[in-house]
Amino acid sequence: MKKLLFSILIFTSLSSFAVNSDIDIFIENHIEHFNYDSEGDEFASKAPESLIKYIRKFAESPIGKIVIRTTIENDVTVGFIQGFYVDDAFQAFDNTIVYTFEIEKWYENKLIEFPDLPKGANLHNIELDVLLAHEFGHTGVGRIALGLSVIDPYVSTSVSTGNVVTTFSRKKIRQEELRAARLFENAYRTFRNIPLRRSYYVENDVL
Ligand SMILES: [Zn+2]
Repeated sequence: MKKLLFSILIFTSLSSFAVNSDIDIFIENHIEHFNYDSEGDEFASKAPESLIKYIRKFAESPIGKIVIRTTIENDVTVGFIQGFYVDDAFQAFDNTIVYTFEIEKWYENKLIEFPDLPKGANLHNIELDVLLAHEFGHTGVGRIALGLSVIDPYVSTSVSTGNVVTTFSRKKIRQEELRAARLFENAYRTFRNIPLRRSYYVENDVL
């Protein structure tokens, strides 16, 4: 009887250890969430379960596991902002990701903005987790997770007058996007076993 009780105790402590997995720690301590009110002002809010569901899906993948672990180890807080307008999603700055649940609408608008979306972009029929995986690729914690450097899109050049002119490099933006698509989004798509994003700006530039 004593032995049985002991086994039960071990079992109980093991299962409580399992509950405190990285993803639970991440959800509990490393995210903040914001919405916009009708005036367009941001306010802190509880992350919707429907978002958490997709973050958990991402966290099950090898790339997700690395990102979530890195977040905890570096004590980073990742911000999620539910975009006021559908078109505000999907973008990331520092460790904040703007998202929307209206993925179909977002995709329709994307097609209006970019009627020549290259073949193989594979953005139809995707879910929020795939888009989150991509955006994690633009975050600081995503870079730390894979040991990547910052790609600064601003390039400063000295001109003949001695002044320094700062310009915005489209080439660098492309590098940044292709890197996020390859190392984060496609790594995640491989895990989900869904078609890869082959194209970003032009056909087959990602792969
Ligand atoms: Zn991107």
